[in-house]
Amino acid sequence: MSAPQRIICIDVGGSYIKVRGYALSPSGQPIPITGEWRAPVTAKATQDFKADFGEVIRLVDKVDAEIGGCDGLSLAVAGLPTLDGKTLVRAGNIVDWVAKPFVQMLEDRYGVPVLLSNDAQASLAADLLAFGSQGALGLYVGTGLGVATSLLIDGKLFIIPGEGSHGTVDMHGKNLGDCGCGQRGGPCVESHGSGRALALDHQGKEPEGLTDEQVFLALVPSLVALTRTVVNLFIPRVGLVVIGGGITAKRPDLVIAVRNELLLQLNGAADVTVEASPYGEETGPYGAAAYWQMSTAA
Ligand SMILES: [Zn+2]
Repeated sequence: MSAPQRIICIDVGGSYIKVRGYALSPSGQPIPITGEWRAPVTAKATQDFKADFGEVIRLVDKVDAEIGGCDGLSLAVAGLPTLDGKTLVRAGNIVDWVAKPFVQMLEDRYGVPVLLSNDAQASLAADLLAFGSQGALGLYVGTGLGVATSLLIDGKLFIIPGEGSHGTVDMHGKNLGDCGCGQRGGPCVESHGSGRALALDHQGKEPEGLTDEQVFLALVPSLVALTRTVVNLFIPRVGLVVIGGGITAKRPDLVIAVRNELLLQLNGAADVTVEASPYGEETGPYGAAAYWQMSTAA
């Protein structure tokens, strides 16, 4: 048996950069071998890639010195990676990272392989380690301010950042304005099933200030439409649907409501397990560790 790899895992979200070292074996869970270091990202309005990347380097240097060098870096970011995994096509909250050669910059500096993933992919990888692959299909749906989705097919490495969150669920929209995805009049999942949509519907109130009924009425239909569409594409293959994100973390009953309605609508056509993500609001560097593990285990 080979020695575990020491991987430095980095999570770049809309608010924080988080870095932690993990020991990874081909089987078993990633084991943290350092503390978690964090720094805030620059505000969206005045975003500065150079400043944010400087913080990433500062934190990675710290962890690298602590563990005496690493075998690789796994970077999970709140954005859509390019097909070659070297940079981002787009990113709603870290716009200034788009098209910057940060993967190459990290490879040059540390001389180790660097693996880039989307944070919803990393969350799905962590959830699959927690629940087991449960069949051919894995779908992660995270509802927070926006909606994030990722998909794993045939229990293999095709974890792809899905665009499920912008699938059309209401042709007539809610007239809440156009979505950032380009669709007019808000016909997509994110226009209905996100914290942003909830706030628009309820005079800017935070989800915490709304009742379960208000949240469920708004979110459940669009989340069910999204999950049902994906599951229908893969019938009769069985699968795991994990619901995560900030809103779910605070209202675990949301998952029960989605599960009940989805199973009712599928009417026995697919054997689907619907679970709440065990990682609460966000998976952090652990997701990047799980993603590295899944990607290198094949
Ligand atoms: Zn959209």
